[in-house]
Amino acid sequence: MNLLLHICCACCLCAPLNGLRKEGFLVTGLFYNPNIHPLLEFRKRIKALRVFQESDPISVIYHEEYGVREYLRNVNYEANNRCSDCYAMRLKFTALYAKKNGFDAFTSTMLFSTYQDHEQLKTISENVSKEYEIGFVYRDYRHLSECSHEMAKKKMIYRQGYCGCIFSEYERYKDTTRELYKGSVKR
Ligand code: SF4
Ligand code: SF4
Repeated sequence: MNLLLHICCACCLCAPLNGLRKEGFLVTGLFYNPNIHPLLEFRKRIKALRVFQESDPISVIYHEEYGVREYLRNVNYEANNRCSDCYAMRLKFTALYAKKNGFDAFTSTMLFSTYQDHEQLKTISENVSKEYEIGFVYRDYRHLSECSHEMAKKKMIYRQGYCGCIFSEYERYKDTTRELYKGSVKR
């Protein structure tokens, strides 16, 4: 079965990719993540996936256009459902791409992460699958998450410190002051 795998970075990919292959899926990756900000972080994650490809022959379709406007258009960031809008934006794009380009089904590395809302991702994917009449492969590889991140570490692949959007960056670092005033503190 030809499977289109939405990938948001290389970290959750390493171990589950082997699992999918063992199951017999022919996996092609799709990098489509308008939610990753700012620009230099977006580029780092693309580069990380390219570094991963140096040791693994997975073919990946890249959408390299920086999508901050697209994200802000599609996501109601002032409400509490920011992540569900963000999931839907990426999963719809993936499903449509799969449908238009002859894939049998789609899935996403987001489902392999212990940090994402797994049940919400599953429900949105199932709905999108029905709406676009394209198969959805549901797998729960969260138990491989640690192993996957260890593999990424060994391969010296860049590992991000926050989910992706400017809001998640703020939430991750707002309480940290480490080195903020380095060099400017008088003792
Ligand atoms: S869920 Fe997070 S860590 Fe996992 S692949 Fe996506 S961005 Fe990377
Ligand atoms: S926290 Fe992550 S999933 Fe939620 S809106 Fe931001 S980038 Fe998207």
